[in-house]
Amino acid sequence: MSRDSLPAGRSFNAATRLIHEGESRSGFGEMSEALFLTSGFAYDTMEAAEARFDGRDPGFIYSRFSNPTVSTFERRMIALEGAEAGRATASGMAAVTAAMLCQLKAGDHVVAAKALFGSCRYVVEDLLPRFGVPSTLVDGADLDQWRAAVTPQTKVFFIETPTNPTLEVYDISAIAEIAHQAGALLVVDNVFATPVLQKPLALGADVVVYSATKHIDGQGRTLGGVVLGSEKFVMDHLHTFLRQTGPAMSPFNAWTLAKGLETLPLRVEKMQSNAAALADFLADHPKVKTLTYCGRSDHPQAALVKKQMAGGGTLIAFKIDGSKAEAFRFGNALEVVKISNNLGDAKSILTHPATTTHQRLPPDARAELGITDAMLRLSVGLEHVDDLLQDVETALKAV
Ligand SMILES: *Cc1c(COP(=O)(O)O)cnc(C)c1O
Repeated sequence: MSRDSLPAGRSFNAATRLIHEGESRSGFGEMSEALFLTSGFAYDTMEAAEARFDGRDPGFIYSRFSNPTVSTFERRMIALEGAEAGRATASGMAAVTAAMLCQLKAGDHVVAAKALFGSCRYVVEDLLPRFGVPSTLVDGADLDQWRAAVTPQTKVFFIETPTNPTLEVYDISAIAEIAHQAGALLVVDNVFATPVLQKPLALGADVVVYSATKHIDGQGRTLGGVVLGSEKFVMDHLHTFLRQTGPAMSPFNAWTLAKGLETLPLRVEKMQSNAAALADFLADHPKVKTLTYCGRSDHPQAALVKKQMAGGGTLIAFKIDGSKAEAFRFGNALEVVKISNNLGDAKSILTHPATTTHQRLPPDARAELGITDAMLRLSVGLEHVDDLLQDVETALKAV
């Protein structure tokens, strides 16, 4: 078997590395990456097995630890993010949970922004405190609240930016600085921005997590996650935690996702240009009361978006002029855009957060985040922009 990556010692652009990084051809010389759908690996001799286990031979041992196909996916993500190291997980939530648990112990303290993906909020607000790790939730945009929440026990800051579903943007560099002054690490859930449009590590974050289920797959096929950071973070904390607790990515899913990465920059660029056109159309429509899109100059943090993102992204949040009934009428009248709770898919998706992704939150917590019954989240896909515009325009007539 040969590992035919790009030649060492030369630098290549991300688009090139996402296509060639981590190629691992078998003796057949196949063009497309082989899928190593195997749980274990055989050793020629007892001595070879011993050497593999004691680390003298760095080969594969067991797919809970590592697998050639999963490694191809990880190498592409490391290249794209500009990270030193990274590990794939079975889902985005496995990545978030591992990134937190691997470095925390009872007595530590976590500070996180209130506006988090529902399951992330569960991990911080409900799960960690059960194991003696209390958390403080703050308004992520208010730097004074971050400073005030710090205690001598604070070990981790956690944010998602832009936030789901309100598309608020938080200052990664400023929050990283406060974290580092407190001796804590900043973990960023970068799903909404995608690794194409925002590089949290370059902005000062310590750890980046993704749900690869979203734009990285981009075609709604598999679950996946990845945690990226320094070699030290991965080797000191993550490596052993993942090996021993087992939220491993399936080689089949890794293969799907590694192939997805080949087209990720192209897809994000096109989805983003479709999103920009839809955002402009919706913002001017009389039946839309308010609209938030990170790429518009009327975004409340437009200057910050310019500073830390390379574009406005693929998601739009807006409030229909009306309430739940009007929001539902709009959704039910769509013919091209699908009703679902996923995002980052080639297929455009409409979500009503108050009754789906954020249903678990009590009404006052939803109100605090600005998630009203009239609010909708639109994940813009790869359909022709004219068909999307027409679908949305026709559906608004039903409101
Ligand atoms: C989807 C999502 C997750 C969880 O990912 P899964 O792959 O569904 O487990 C975490 N954070 C954000 C921001 C997400 O959108």
